[in-house]
Amino acid sequence: MNSEHFETQAIRTQTEQTQFREHSVPLYLTSSFVFEDAEMARALFADELPGNIYTRFSNPNHEELVRKMCLLEGAEDGLVTASGMAAMFSSMAGLLSSGDHLLISRAVFGSTHQIVTRLFPRWGIAHTYVDPTRPETWEAEIRPNTRMIFLETPSNPGLDLVDLEWVGKLADKYQLILNVDNCFATPYLQRPTDYGAHLVSHSATKWLDGQGRTIAGIIVGKADLLKELRFFCRHTGPALSPFNSWILSKSLETLAVRMEKHCLNAMALAEWLETLPDTEDVRYPFLPSHPQYALARKQMSMGGGLVSFAVKGGLERGRKFLDNARALSHTANLGDTRTIITHPASTTHSKLTVEEQAAVGITPGLIRISVGLEHLEDIKQAIAHALEQSR
Ligand SMILES: *Cc1c(COP(=O)(O)O)cnc(C)c1O
Repeated sequence: MNSEHFETQAIRTQTEQTQFREHSVPLYLTSSFVFEDAEMARALFADELPGNIYTRFSNPNHEELVRKMCLLEGAEDGLVTASGMAAMFSSMAGLLSSGDHLLISRAVFGSTHQIVTRLFPRWGIAHTYVDPTRPETWEAEIRPNTRMIFLETPSNPGLDLVDLEWVGKLADKYQLILNVDNCFATPYLQRPTDYGAHLVSHSATKWLDGQGRTIAGIIVGKADLLKELRFFCRHTGPALSPFNSWILSKSLETLAVRMEKHCLNAMALAEWLETLPDTEDVRYPFLPSHPQYALARKQMSMGGGLVSFAVKGGLERGRKFLDNARALSHTANLGDTRTIITHPASTTHSKLTVEEQAAVGITPGLIRISVGLEHLEDIKQAIAHALEQSR
């Protein structure tokens, strides 16, 4: 058992030093690895010897990142993928078969929704959507062929929470695989494995990198499941570049200090937004007005970096607000040093019908803010300016 703390694990988990005694870990930009002799090649391919063969299978930069994420998430094993969606897709498709049924929270990322509703039916994988805020209704939806529960908490962009302890017990009772997209909280704020999650899937593009430089995904969890997923990924090939792995391992070294500051800025911003006459429906898990405030305090150590609110005046004023918030970034990403604003109804969730949008809490005027690391007063000023100009 490793007794080191989160920050130390994130900083001190490193690949072995080479003969050059480097302090910063080198980048292994190589597609393949040399066999010393015919016997070594045979043994590596037969899985009798641990070691790298080909970067689609493994690479020292992947290994370091995986080892670190396993420590941070409290998981046994893991793998990295070329995007968050490759992680979400592989973590489901690598384990589900035709005839299986998936129980899935209604409030999931837009592309996850597309996979489940548009692709899985072609392969005979059925699903039932359930309400994230009412896990007591989930048990009635479990069928004899249900194999996995998939959820996100907090959700995007509605910031609804799922009670991890409740769902962990449900998964255990019915022997279902519990797969949690922990992108929004990161292991610094919430560890789903503490509540019995068997898989934790990530878009590392967001807070884990935190600087808007890479697209990447990570899956960690139980060793037996990861063995199957490694087979799936080795042969289907969603491999991450060693360069992006190297960047992400460096990013994790500062995850704790970054998340701490993102959360402090977001909390203060949410409190301030609630006092303004021009805004309504301010949502942030650590605001006492959040309907699941008590749950947030129980399963998260801080409230996260995302705040959402509606500008009074509906769609028209919402668009005006966006066009006047020039000091902030208007882009489709989140989890960056820079504060980012988005309008989910016309961008990330535009593929959903109006009814589907409403079901996950997306109103036409809803604005999502990914709170950055700029000075809080400057973020507030940019928002105040945009509100004033949109009147
Ligand atoms: C962005 C995101 C994804 C997809 O990740 P990519 O790296 O963009 O492929 C999945 N889940 C959540 C919650 C996300 O925010």
